[in-house]
Amino acid sequence: MATLVSDDGAGASRQRRAQRGLTRLLIRDMRTLRRLIRPQRLEATVPEWIEAVRALVAQYGNASATAAADFYDAERVAAAVTGRFTVPLLDPPPDEKVGSGLRWATKDLWPRDSEDPATTEAQRQPMEVRLDQAEKKAEAVAQKLVTDQGRGTVQEAVRQDRMAVGYARAAALGACAFCRLLAARGMVYKQDTAGFRAHDGCNCGVIPVFRGQRFELSAHAREWDRLYREYAAPYPGEQLRRFRRAIAEHG
Ligand SMILES: [Zn+2]
Repeated sequence: MATLVSDDGAGASRQRRAQRGLTRLLIRDMRTLRRLIRPQRLEATVPEWIEAVRALVAQYGNASATAAADFYDAERVAAAVTGRFTVPLLDPPPDEKVGSGLRWATKDLWPRDSEDPATTEAQRQPMEVRLDQAEKKAEAVAQKLVTDQGRGTVQEAVRQDRMAVGYARAAALGACAFCRLLAARGMVYKQDTAGFRAHDGCNCGVIPVFRGQRFELSAHAREWDRLYREYAAPYPGEQLRRFRRAIAEHG
């Protein structure tokens, strides 16, 4: 008998809670590292801070991949497919990728000549404000890297597992229009996917769909799909903008 899978099943909710829990711990730990940055010695201390954050990203990223593999295994059991499969755990992102994200997050900390017209509003703020902003951006960068390691683990498993046919995107109720739009599309066959696109702060999950399973959109994703069809689909080139307006007005 075909089992049912949805973007809002019990497994998907547990997986989202697990990943959010990791994000909370990651951010808590990151905040204790902030004092490593000394405004008077940015040159020496920002790279030290980057090293420390990178270690956290690797640690939490591995936990994210492990949680994702457990989720995948449980979904596979629930789908009652045959044959064994070992989920390959994704490695942490390369050092350079973490480094460049964190350098981007902290770029406004560096002193600028206030007379220089290229100096932005953000760079004119007092150091405390710039530190807060850098921290917020860095947390978003790290959250994405860690969550991506889990999402990437599910995607790679779907790609390699002969019993997996594709995956769906699970977007939270409060997700942005971009994510809701993609979630409303439902299951994507693995051969049709160009990869899962996420953004900083995105909590979307990847839900595997196995042979013999029937995928069904959750009630909220069905509603996003309805809004999309009614208000956005007929307007090529401005569908995302129209959809965003539709969910603001009718969602
Ligand atoms: Zn998202």
